[in-house]
Amino acid sequence: MIFMSKRAVLRESECDYSIFTDVHLGKTIKDVPSGWALNLLDIREFIPILRYEFECYIRINNIISPCKIRINPRLFYNGAPMKEYLRKQKAIDPNKKIELELKFNKKELDKALDDFNNENLNYIDTKLLVGKSSTSKGWGLSKDVKAKIFPLDAYNYMYPVYIDGIPTETRLNMQIRLFYSSDELSQELAKLAKRDSKQKVDARIILNEEYLHITRDLKDDYLSDQKCTVCGNPIDKESQSNKCFDCLDKELTVLKLKSILDFFNPSDIFYEEDLLDLGYTKSQIRLTFHKLEKYGLVSRNWDDSFQLADDKKITQFIKDWG
Ligand SMILES: [Zn+2]
Repeated sequence: MIFMSKRAVLRESECDYSIFTDVHLGKTIKDVPSGWALNLLDIREFIPILRYEFECYIRINNIISPCKIRINPRLFYNGAPMKEYLRKQKAIDPNKKIELELKFNKKELDKALDDFNNENLNYIDTKLLVGKSSTSKGWGLSKDVKAKIFPLDAYNYMYPVYIDGIPTETRLNMQIRLFYSSDELSQELAKLAKRDSKQKVDARIILNEEYLHITRDLKDDYLSDQKCTVCGNPIDKESQSNKCFDCLDKELTVLKLKSILDFFNPSDIFYEEDLLDLGYTKSQIRLTFHKLEKYGLVSRNWDDSFQLADDKKITQFIKDWG
């Protein structure tokens, strides 16, 4: 694998594949945008986002919260002439949809994606800025953390793109963010911000659930005799949280459930192929549906299809544990 510090220019003659999507002229902003967040379904053959988005845990100051990794690819174009062209289009019709075609080399890209393997990654230690994270409930991740989660190098090119049929050069920016769900963590971050919002805190992003128990770096007696702050059950001495594993597990399941609800409605029936087609990997499907089945949020039918629980059950679970 070649690591490039500078983006290489991908020539059109080197490309063997195109994806098409629509972009907008910026209804809510005065000028036209310099780039766009791309429609994830339209570009899934180029960037299989769902393969790299996942739910996990984050630990900050002994508080463990479920969290979700979100990937937001943005494409920026080069040059004033394109901007001028878009301005003219906007003056004619600000609601006009602009067609965008992006060319790439699918064969090489697929190979680079296959080569990227982080399945044995158990956790990532990083530092996060306290800033406004108590209200935004998340952070953009640094480049070195992103590189552990996503094959950044595979996309380090200037891509040939046609915007409304006009050739232009573009570069991609992968915005990768982590959002946590726990109010307790939000309160802790608010406390830290009051003292010094510019400070950074040590954070551990825990990808492997087993590491919820064995990521000790605390005083030995820290959690003995503690009871779960949610259900009152005693907490495993090895635990690093003030909630029991069952409660944390249910909170994480809410995030997994919400991800599925991006694509399906309560009571919907669907097949594994539908999920693969959306870009989920087999192991993600296994992990997600194992949890959803455990709490009766999905059932398996005789023909191996999945059926989501009804609206009442799903709403209640999110209300109880979200
Ligand atoms: Zn509990």
